[in-house]
Amino acid sequence: MAENVVILGAGESGVGAAILAQQKGFGVWVSDKGAVKEKYREVLRSRQIPWEEGTHSMDRILEAALVIKSPGIPESAPVIAEIRRKGIPVISEIEFAGRYTKARKICITGSNGKTTTTLLIHHLLTQAGVDAGLAGNVGKSLAWQVAEEPHEVYVIELSSFQLDGMYDFRADVAILMNITPDHLDRYGYQMQNYVDSKFRIIQNQTAADYFVFCADDPVTCREMTKREIKATCIPFSLGQPAGGTGAGIQDNQLIIELKEKQFSMSILDLALQGKHNTYNSMAAGIAGMVSEIRNEKIRESLSDFKGVEHRLERFLKVHGIEFVNDSKATNVNSTWYALESMTHPVVWIAGGVDKGNDYSMLIELAREKVKAIVCLGVDNSKIHQAFGGVVRNIIDAQSMAEAVKSAYYLARNGDVVLLSPACASFDLFENYEDRGAQFKREVRNL
Ligand code: ADP
Repeated sequence: MAENVVILGAGESGVGAAILAQQKGFGVWVSDKGAVKEKYREVLRSRQIPWEEGTHSMDRILEAALVIKSPGIPESAPVIAEIRRKGIPVISEIEFAGRYTKARKICITGSNGKTTTTLLIHHLLTQAGVDAGLAGNVGKSLAWQVAEEPHEVYVIELSSFQLDGMYDFRADVAILMNITPDHLDRYGYQMQNYVDSKFRIIQNQTAADYFVFCADDPVTCREMTKREIKATCIPFSLGQPAGGTGAGIQDNQLIIELKEKQFSMSILDLALQGKHNTYNSMAAGIAGMVSEIRNEKIRESLSDFKGVEHRLERFLKVHGIEFVNDSKATNVNSTWYALESMTHPVVWIAGGVDKGNDYSMLIELAREKVKAIVCLGVDNSKIHQAFGGVVRNIIDAQSMAEAVKSAYYLARNGDVVLLSPACASFDLFENYEDRGAQFKREVRNL
């Protein structure tokens, strides 16, 4: 009898894991407590992979030799507690897929900037002719690609939830963008638990691998002093290059040094502008250099990258007012970078589901740059409280249509209307994509 693999969650990662497990000869069964999307039902049906939805049948789940869990299911879910009690190993889809590929893996994690950096690196490698797959939180699941469309290199975005289910997986290049408080509800409200989760990205690395990190990030640097890191460490910073290995800025030049190689380009030529994006470009440039991509190609890719939807996306100008869609800013830190990068007076659309936000770090920027706030959430009281004495004009909106109209009314020629909520979206929207799409639709309707 083949060993039984049970897969919890029939989304992109779960279905990918099911396909790979089936191909490798395991007995496979998929269980999803919610409703499965039609697209994935069809895939499971056509491959005769058995599954259930709307419930978790525990007796069947507990027959598993191995459980592969979707990153969306928290450790605290009752189903996981029962599986743990029985001592059945629980891993993530990335861990499982990692067992069946020898491809080079460039992995990106951090509290903010993961998707942007992942897509930028993927762009850079494919432009240079490398056969690179895009996986993790973006694109097709790693397991699915390993099973059916293998690549020489994978660029993989890893959330802390995916990292939590990883044990033997090894990243050839591990990139940690930054660590700021996020998702603490899933980490027992202990920052150290979240930090430990992020640092799983370097577990199993050897001296032949690379660890790329932000030297300006105090949490990362403090944690590094506590650990023995085997990989070659490559820092990036907005400060002057320290000499030796790493990336920095000097006279508006982005400079990367790596062994005897050197790369430089003007930061004015970077496709992605703003301080946070400079970090993202640096990390991508380093990934390019350790992948032996020619400087000319790296320069080209960092300057012609098209950006990513919903991330500081400069969408439209209406009567001289620029509308920027940063719907993906679901925490205070990413909104900090958005406000920081603004060079014109801002009408700021903020709010949504507050994950225990501390707005104090935004006060100074709001004082300096924000002329009005449009609150877009079911409960806006914390925003009123935090910015009441700082921004004169704060109004409430109950829908995106109302928010965009109010913002348009408050803005003048030359201003920016910035949707950068600092909050999750699921009070009024399906998800951040829906929020951003509604924003763009309403702006188009002005
Ligand atoms: P993630 O995948 O980690 O959520 P994204 O690339 O989707 O990151 O960007 C999320 C938000 O964070 C966007 O609002 C973006 O403007 C902002 N952001 C992007 N890169 C960084 C960075 N390096 N540091 C801080 N904020 C960033």
